[in-house]
Amino acid sequence: MYEVLESRFGSEWLQALTDEMRLFGNKYRQQLDAFTKEGMFPRDIYVEMGQRGWVGPTTATAQGGLGGGVAEYCAICEQVARHSLISPQISVQGQQWLNRWGTPQQQARYLPGIAQGTLIFAEAISEPDAASSLKALTCRAEQSGSEFVINGRKTHVNLGVEADVLLTYAIVPEAGLTAFLVPANAVGMTRRQTDPIGLRLLPTSEITFDNVRVAEDSVLGRVGGGFETFVTTFNVSRLGNASEIIGFSERALRNAIDYAKARPVGSSVVTDFQGNQWIVAEAYSKIYAASLARDRAANLADAGEDVALPTTLAKRLAIEAGEYTVNECYSLIGSHGLYTDTDYGQLLHDMKVYRVAGGSLEILKNYIAKRVLSDDGLLR
Ligand SMILES: Cc1cc2nc3c(=O)[nH]c(=O)nc-3n(C[C@H](O)[C@H](O)[C@H](O)COP(=O)(O)OP(=O)(O)OC[C@H]3O[C@@H](n4cnc5c(N)ncnc54)[C@H](O)[C@@H]3O)c2cc1C
Repeated sequence: MYEVLESRFGSEWLQALTDEMRLFGNKYRQQLDAFTKEGMFPRDIYVEMGQRGWVGPTTATAQGGLGGGVAEYCAICEQVARHSLISPQISVQGQQWLNRWGTPQQQARYLPGIAQGTLIFAEAISEPDAASSLKALTCRAEQSGSEFVINGRKTHVNLGVEADVLLTYAIVPEAGLTAFLVPANAVGMTRRQTDPIGLRLLPTSEITFDNVRVAEDSVLGRVGGGFETFVTTFNVSRLGNASEIIGFSERALRNAIDYAKARPVGSSVVTDFQGNQWIVAEAYSKIYAASLARDRAANLADAGEDVALPTTLAKRLAIEAGEYTVNECYSLIGSHGLYTDTDYGQLLHDMKVYRVAGGSLEILKNYIAKRVLSDDGLLR
């Protein structure tokens, strides 16, 4: 739902997008479900999504994108999750990194392909012993003449095996955290696919960097500027996470209501019971609140405001709505939701991934508490 989301293309565009993405989801339902089961990336469907502008919402049309802003990004992510399509989240983050910090050469080389879905981007930040805390990363990049030599291990990397370019965060001695655009054909990189329970259309991987040499011009932003490149991207991409969670919640509630209204129990149907009606009321209220917070954060982002707190609040409220809805809808669907050929088990797993990845619930709450405790102006 987009109660107060202000699309630069108008409300008719939002409605047309919703209709088009529903039809697209219906067309590819069986194939997407099969890819989900196998834990594989549906490349051809992804490229078609790219041609429709759904992979490059915030990139300029001249660079192959849709030419929209954060509002359009949110609307697309919500519909992606509503119809279990392929999340463009990793790709959009890549485009935001490049749009904000890329040199003209880096943008020309990578942006159009990533925006159109023909060039696959991955982000290699998390490590086996460090993910929530950037300060604990150990992957190193040592300067050697006009090159950097990267050594270390990365984990949980969505599309790490499929990627053509991997934005890799490593510590440069003396300078600090730095982001590198590492081409997938770099010598010394080993990639192994792993098998996540959720978001299975974007398979994960473990990557080892063994003396991987990259040219100086592969640094994104400045040497030692890794923290700023990270924060500026994640502050906005949290809204993509929030929007997908809102889409999961709407899908779970819509499907559960449709089932429960038609499910007889004795002389009643499941939705006749007040306890179940209250679950519907609670779930809808939480989704509504999360959508409003998301819409407001997106509008502020498009207006160029500081959105660190609004985007964090939006994802935190979306997690609450999503976890409540996908858990409690079992009161409406009963055993029907406990089989692998229904959608509910996958929704439980997808929700758990977004509770952790892209900013875990605990880290979001830490940030909200820090802001509220340090700024009396937030509570007048
Ligand atoms: C399916 C999937 C896809 C992912 N995709 C990518 C990707 O493409 N690229 C990438 O680099 N990473 C990716 N990640 C990694 C993800 O960002 C990390 O899992 C996340 O940052 C949390 O790290 P961790 O799981 O190692 O938790 P840890 O850092 O080990 O923390 C363990 C738990 O403690 C909590 N915790 C940590 N610090 C605090 C604190 N200060 N206060 C309170 N609680 C705290 C955490 O929230 C977590 O619940 C992905 C993860 C998954 C599961």
